[in-house]
Amino acid sequence: MMAGKRHLLAPGPTPVPEAARLVMARELIHHRGPEFKVIFEEVRARLQWIFETESDVLSLTCSGTGAFEAAMINFTRRDSTIVSIGGGKFGERWAEVARAYGMKVVEVPVTWGESVTPDALAAVLESTPEVAMVTVSASETSTGAWHPIEALAQVVRDHSEALFAVDGITAVGVQPIPMDAWGIDVLVSGSQKAFGVPPGLAFVAASERAWERYAQSDHPRYYFDLGRERDAQRRQQTAFTPAISVILALNEALKLMEEEGREALYARHERNARAARAGVEALGLQLFARSPANSVTAALVPESVSGKAVVRAMRESYGVTIAGGQGDYADRLVRIGHIGFFDGSDMLIAMSALERALADQGLDIPFGSGVAAVQGVLGAAGRVG
Ligand SMILES: *Cc1c(COP(=O)(O)O)cnc(C)c1O
Repeated sequence: MMAGKRHLLAPGPTPVPEAARLVMARELIHHRGPEFKVIFEEVRARLQWIFETESDVLSLTCSGTGAFEAAMINFTRRDSTIVSIGGGKFGERWAEVARAYGMKVVEVPVTWGESVTPDALAAVLESTPEVAMVTVSASETSTGAWHPIEALAQVVRDHSEALFAVDGITAVGVQPIPMDAWGIDVLVSGSQKAFGVPPGLAFVAASERAWERYAQSDHPRYYFDLGRERDAQRRQQTAFTPAISVILALNEALKLMEEEGREALYARHERNARAARAGVEALGLQLFARSPANSVTAALVPESVSGKAVVRAMRESYGVTIAGGQGDYADRLVRIGHIGFFDGSDMLIAMSALERALADQGLDIPFGSGVAAVQGVLGAAGRVG
């Protein structure tokens, strides 16, 4: 074990700001008491603000995948057909959930690293009758790609009666994804990404159209009955015991996001993302995503190098935790997360550690070249974020 300071730059979980950590250290409160209701009411309003929706944003005690499952079994029927946009581990997860419930799945194949085109979705919808739900992961964390959500929502509306369900787990709070304005029917997220609090909560918001389908849904369900949950949460309660401490932390993190403001929050993520991209490219690595999201920078390591070894060296020798690749790219990618409470200095730390780790693998890295590129993007405007 290294004695030194550690830096968490994984694409989830993400660092927890001090105000959120401190509130978790206080004496636990009861979730049926008056104090909880006051806090939960604030949390609910702040979640609507960041989801940009008038709909209820329900908090569920589970990881993000639980919200996928809840969305699937509350807003479709057992005999429904799902159109699932692939392109990475998380996009493909929607299809896995639907198949687990015996539903029919038609996939829109997308090469990992690329983003789906609206035309490709339109073609699948034109040849598939009675689609109940179209699913996608807005920011595909396994590849670093961003899918064109606003245009896809329009295609769904124009070509079908389907609900449009979006995994916004590394999108909400990172870059604009206005649920109501874009016509997203179901938007899910999770506590351990942009919200900067520990894992334990997932969020799901659903449009009026989706709630109409809820009434017709015939899936068996108990814990994830969203109708029951909505009734409870409108009374500032949860149906079952929630992750109380995470909710308290979430309120503190949401306050920080609110103080910063949505525009500044997105601008900070955008600047950090640009800095990370410039840094890895200056080191001769190739960006994996053609249309990168602002959440994570995924870069291919040179053929001669093991991505896993780079990730290990960064963690063990330099105290910086990033992520490697997933699936077929397990050993080929490095992924630097910049989701949540990061500023430019974090990007400099990550880039300097990446330079050293790549050099450790025998690559000829001119020290400072990645760092200089990051500095070039950050500019001399002083500390940001
Ligand atoms: C982290 C993540 C998830 C959720 O995974 P859980 O481990 O279930 O919390 C889903 N989608 C994306 C895009 C993610 O980054």
